[in-house]
Amino acid sequence: MNSYIQSSWKLPGGGSQIVKILSGILRNSGGEILRNKEVKKIVEKDGLINHLVLEDDSIVESKQFVSAISPAETLKMLHSGKIRSRYRQRIENRENTMSSFSLYIVLKAKTIRYENCNYYYQKRGRIWSLGDYNFDEWPLGYGLYFNRDRKNPEYASSISILTLMKFEDVKKWSHTFHTSRHEVSRGVDYERFKYERSEKLLDWVYEKFPQLMGNISSFYAATPLTNRDYIGQRDGAIYGVQKDYNTPLENIISPRTKIPNLFLTGQNINLHGILGTSLSAILTCMMLLGDNSLIDKIKNA
Ligand SMILES: Cc1cc2nc3c(=O)[nH]c(=O)nc-3n(C[C@H](O)[C@H](O)[C@H](O)COP(=O)(O)OP(=O)(O)OC[C@H]3O[C@@H](n4cnc5c(N)ncnc54)[C@H](O)[C@@H]3O)c2cc1C
Repeated sequence: MNSYIQSSWKLPGGGSQIVKILSGILRNSGGEILRNKEVKKIVEKDGLINHLVLEDDSIVESKQFVSAISPAETLKMLHSGKIRSRYRQRIENRENTMSSFSLYIVLKAKTIRYENCNYYYQKRGRIWSLGDYNFDEWPLGYGLYFNRDRKNPEYASSISILTLMKFEDVKKWSHTFHTSRHEVSRGVDYERFKYERSEKLLDWVYEKFPQLMGNISSFYAATPLTNRDYIGQRDGAIYGVQKDYNTPLENIISPRTKIPNLFLTGQNINLHGILGTSLSAILTCMMLLGDNSLIDKIKNA
């Protein structure tokens, strides 16, 4: 938790650099990345995972498998007598964290100065109950982040605003599925909902940032459905399963499963966020390798 308490951090030039660097390392080491290939089934044979079935019915075989999606979704795809029903129930019954509504604002060039900090606003008295709103009083708080204009570094090119939103607010469109690969409209009602929520959020943001008024060239909104359809996380939960500080040990899921060649990783294993998932990845690698040599390598890097 030390890193979170010290401050918040971001990468100049955007977080996608991490993906580019990691995928480069993976390819240079002989790895292959299959994009846009949803895993539909995890098939066990004689107590080991034998292969995966992808959405186009193709098959991927391997000696070892690591699942980086939520353990509940992993188990849904896996039918195996090795997984006890108590373990299944424990994983599947865990409550998820809340979802979010994100607003991405494109600014008119050279109008808003870049600010190298984040802003967090909460309505008075509601800091511990930001997700406990009724439809009319939403939102109870938001985080606002400036993105630098590369050509004019003194200015911001865009602003991201993140606020909590319950999945039930968009439940009536939950039968729809939309990603850039499956461009199916969710309907006019949904577009109106997004627009009205964006305007409501913006009205409140203008109170603290009046300089934004008249300097927005366009905005895009993402709802819990966007999160769900892109991330594959039930209810669009932003941080995976809910952790309870009263019972910290119960929150931890082992990267090992009862199937010796199936491992788990990702935000649900330990902690969420870029730091939490990196720590989970290290734990998973240590179990895959069966020793602590990775820690020594990190210490001596
Ligand atoms: C809007 C939003 C803002 C956030 N902001 C921050 C932040 O500022 N800082 C921070 O530290 N954390 C932030 N988080 C949390 C952070 O993004 C997550 O904790 C982290 O990405 C989880 O990593 P992961 O590897 O466990 O899962 P993911 O990053 O969700 O990766 C899982 C991947 O699996 C893919 N997938 C799902 N199902 C299948 C399937 N069946 N077959 C194949 N692939 C599949 C998904 O498409 C996805 O690419 C934010 C989350 C959200 C939603």
